[in-house]
Amino acid sequence: MTTVRPAEPPRTERRAVSGSDRILLAGVEGIGHHGVLAFEKADGQPFVVDIVLELDLSRAGRTDSLDDTVSYADIATDVMARITGPSFDLIERLAGVIAADVLDRPLVDAVEVTVHKPQAPVGQPFTDVAVHVRRERGVPVVIALGANLGRASAVLAVLTDAVGEIADLPGVRVRAVSPLVETDPVGGPQQPVYLNAVLLADVTRAPRDLLAGLHAIEAAHGRVREIRWGARTLDLDIIQVGRPGTSTELRSSDPRLTVPHPRAHERAFVLAPWSMVDPDALVRDDVSASAGLRRIGDLLADLDDTGVRPGPEWSPTW
Ligand code: ATP
Ligand code: MG
Ligand code: MG
Repeated sequence: MTTVRPAEPPRTERRAVSGSDRILLAGVEGIGHHGVLAFEKADGQPFVVDIVLELDLSRAGRTDSLDDTVSYADIATDVMARITGPSFDLIERLAGVIAADVLDRPLVDAVEVTVHKPQAPVGQPFTDVAVHVRRERGVPVVIALGANLGRASAVLAVLTDAVGEIADLPGVRVRAVSPLVETDPVGGPQQPVYLNAVLLADVTRAPRDLLAGLHAIEAAHGRVREIRWGARTLDLDIIQVGRPGTSTELRSSDPRLTVPHPRAHERAFVLAPWSMVDPDALVRDDVSASAGLRRIGDLLADLDDTGVRPGPEWSPTW
């Protein structure tokens, strides 16, 4: 088996060119109710936020178009909404949600957020206290979840827990999770129906480390590998790493981590939930071919009997 491209740490599509381009937004100030103490939640106090956006500004430099950059007015509006919005105990959390908001906008490769709390109850003379975080967008990764062992409620609980546990892996930012589908088993021995879902994340760590993290989550839920494609408490597969057809796409036929997942393009139990959460997804149907990108809807339409039905309602959190 030849490795088309080794499983190496993902690079972001724009990293090579964005270089040192930055947008700075300093001193966004509002009254918020963040803090552990009761009077902090009741009375409120000033919070001041500084933002540094890292993005490729070369195109905006040529086109003079707002479409090719990020509106700092929009960022300031988002920041103020978080400062004055629902109360958090910690400014670490406030900084984290502000960073996540910024990364939800297109074009931004990475963001630095500093949250100042100049009137914090420190108990000593001081001039400022601040928390600073830096978050990178990472590359998009598609993860398929499946489970079929135990009572239906237990299967649903395992999948719900798994979403939170994936979100807790270092370097993983969950963007979206599909509805659950109930699916007929494919291959393997006779076994109960499955519940399946697909999760989209942005990941800044090496794919093999991500897979190790997923294996640890599987193991924590009692996953054993005795019969190939046999019933399992939890299966977490990496379906796609990077944006297909771009330099961020990882293609590897290493048996320890084969991406794109070599069987995903023919599996309705992956494609159906994936299309619910990303109807425009492009799927590579041959790991080694240079062509072979198909629209997910076309792939699904080619499958005769999908064996996929709507699953129970769920509302996983991450
Ligand atoms: P399938 O891969 O057909 O869905 P499975 O999920 O039941 O089968 P597992 O027993 O979970 O298979 O995994 C077997 C091995 O596959 C693992 O040891 C893992 O290292 C390897 N593997 C290779 N590529 C991937 C991938 N993209 N996602 C998850 N595991 C992978
Ligand atoms: Mg699998
Ligand atoms: Mg697997």
